[in-house]
Amino acid sequence: MKKIMITALFGLAIAACSGDKSESCENPFLCEYNTPFGVPPFDKIKPAHFIPALDEGIKQQNAAIDSIIGNTAIPDFENTIVAFEFSSELFDRVYLTFENLRSCDATNSIDSISEEIIKKVSQQNTDVVLNANLFNKIKQVYDKKNELGLNTEQLMLLEKTHRNFVRNGANLNEEQKERIREINERLSLLELDFETKVRNETNAFQLVVDNIEDCAGVTQSLIDVAAETAKARGLDGKYVFTLDRACIFPFLQTAKNRNLREKIFKGYISRCDNNNADDAKKNIAEQVSLRTEKAQIFGYKNYAEYVLEDKMAKTPEAATELLLQIWKPALELAKKEAANIQSMINERGEKIKLEPWDWSYYAEKIRAAKYDLNEEMLLPYFSLDNVLQGVFDVTLKLYGLQFVKRTDIPVYHNDVVAYEVQESDGKLVGILYLDFYVRPTKGVGAWMTEFRTQHRASVKDKKTLENKIVDVRPIVSLVYNFARPTADNPSLLNLDEVSTVFHEFGHALNGLLSDCTYPSVAGTNTPTDFVELPSQIMENWAFLPEVLNMYARHYKTGEAIPQNLIQKITESNKFNQGFNNVELVAASLLDMAYHTRTDVKQIEDINKFESDEMKKIGLISEIVPRYRSTYFKHIFTGGYTAGYYSYRWSAVLDADAFEAFKENGYFDKTTATSFRKNILERGYTDDLMKLYVNFRGHLPNAYALLKREGLQ
Ligand SMILES: [Zn+2]
Repeated sequence: MKKIMITALFGLAIAACSGDKSESCENPFLCEYNTPFGVPPFDKIKPAHFIPALDEGIKQQNAAIDSIIGNTAIPDFENTIVAFEFSSELFDRVYLTFENLRSCDATNSIDSISEEIIKKVSQQNTDVVLNANLFNKIKQVYDKKNELGLNTEQLMLLEKTHRNFVRNGANLNEEQKERIREINERLSLLELDFETKVRNETNAFQLVVDNIEDCAGVTQSLIDVAAETAKARGLDGKYVFTLDRACIFPFLQTAKNRNLREKIFKGYISRCDNNNADDAKKNIAEQVSLRTEKAQIFGYKNYAEYVLEDKMAKTPEAATELLLQIWKPALELAKKEAANIQSMINERGEKIKLEPWDWSYYAEKIRAAKYDLNEEMLLPYFSLDNVLQGVFDVTLKLYGLQFVKRTDIPVYHNDVVAYEVQESDGKLVGILYLDFYVRPTKGVGAWMTEFRTQHRASVKDKKTLENKIVDVRPIVSLVYNFARPTADNPSLLNLDEVSTVFHEFGHALNGLLSDCTYPSVAGTNTPTDFVELPSQIMENWAFLPEVLNMYARHYKTGEAIPQNLIQKITESNKFNQGFNNVELVAASLLDMAYHTRTDVKQIEDINKFESDEMKKIGLISEIVPRYRSTYFKHIFTGGYTAGYYSYRWSAVLDADAFEAFKENGYFDKTTATSFRKNILERGYTDDLMKLYVNFRGHLPNAYALLKREGLQ
């Protein structure tokens, strides 16, 4: 995952600080940092510093904008677009530091100022984007963009800046602006309401089991949790299973009692579809209608068109076509998988027809029989230290990068380790913080974020007093939630977690190797359907036999992982992929169906809409889309609206891109250098499809993904 920050909408202009140098300077944000590499002085920053520094940042940005507007010279790229790009340097630096701490070390004192900070930031963003005089200057530059002799990166920055204003309503008349404001306000309420409803319904469901016999098959650790949950809910002596991911999915995989599997599964898929106060169907109908109306006010046919214009896919048609390339073979394979499961059921003499609540249970039986692989066998070979060494070694072999631990760099928490990343000749690439362990003040999941985005800044040379261009190197951070080592054992990772280490490292490389001029188009500031390419491609190296031989060693004996285990890991990759892809693509197509509607009239029957769409694509009755409409938070609480396709789109890209390494050698220098030069260094400084083709030599197609996941 790549953390998406709501910074000042445009710039992530995090230049090296040049503030007050006096000793008496009390707020570290307003002083020269005086730290190695200009990293934030975490040892000096206190929660009380954020709000005054943010206020000062807002003041500075407003002054910079006033001087752009007040400039009597003819507006040009430098005096308008670049001036605006760097207008929010302090504002972004303070807010980014705050947001990062709020996500990974939300102490009470940080939490207590969150609301005020978020309010200030959103107010400032709105003020900027609705500033008609500022837009007027930007538009004057935009209207003559082809006469200015701009290079590709400058054109991309100009397009992006202009588009951000336009997409927020700058070109609309007053009446339209008013309606957009109303729609946005209403949508944010509806999204919040949707989120609350899903949370309520998820929490409201409980499967109460009276007898331990009915828990047959379920692991002891899950039974223990269920007993504790029951106790906490005043149901001492019973077992309570919930819709928590860590509970329902293992339950469905292991519980022998079919009726109970059916109950919990139906509880899960009928969330917010129970015709009660938390039913979300009306909410969905209104959201879809408002979005269509909004898109049409902006002059688009439908909402997906409005969203995708800004993405690599560019049109809903392109996204849908790619989804269908996966859908057809995935559906064929899923039908075969269903038939396999049914014959296993028949062989066991169980007289039932396969239903959605049976799939995971029997699929696990088949997996166990076929691959004889379990977590206990694997864990000892994947200590966190060994996996980290593995990803360092892969990065060294591909890009020549070296990681030097630095204990003199201030960090925001004792868990965090700082590295100086260097090219093979020792030249600075950037700073990398690694924050591995779970703690109560940290959000769930894993993500990459930055404290400073790479860019080039114009600074005055202290001796010559002349301006020179300085390459400001990035400060990147990776945050995970792994178990802490104990007195006896190091932190041991399962295969998913190993993948996650490599995945986030790919985002880090995208940030670290960035070689751009303007921060808002640098590094990972790319659209959602492209940003996961650098991360997902790294996962491909994690389990290659030659890479496992490098790093997967028993934490006690140092013995390399046995070859038969490597073989099983490789083979089990293709297991159940028909099901996985059908689930994912069905949900992606459902999202597209809602957001390619052109009729503003509200959908009358959401369930009928969903089932009609699923019928159209031929979804089989044994599989339910990954998310049904009424709890599809990705698309109805913002973020991935008309964008759920991004996950499969990026997977197509990463599989196709990795083919180049398969063809030329997993550590082929020429291929790695081309990936670095065309993708990792380039941010959003050119058309993304063009950059991709420059690397790969052809447009992406789903063939490699289909092959990798056994769909063809
Ligand atoms: Zn990611």
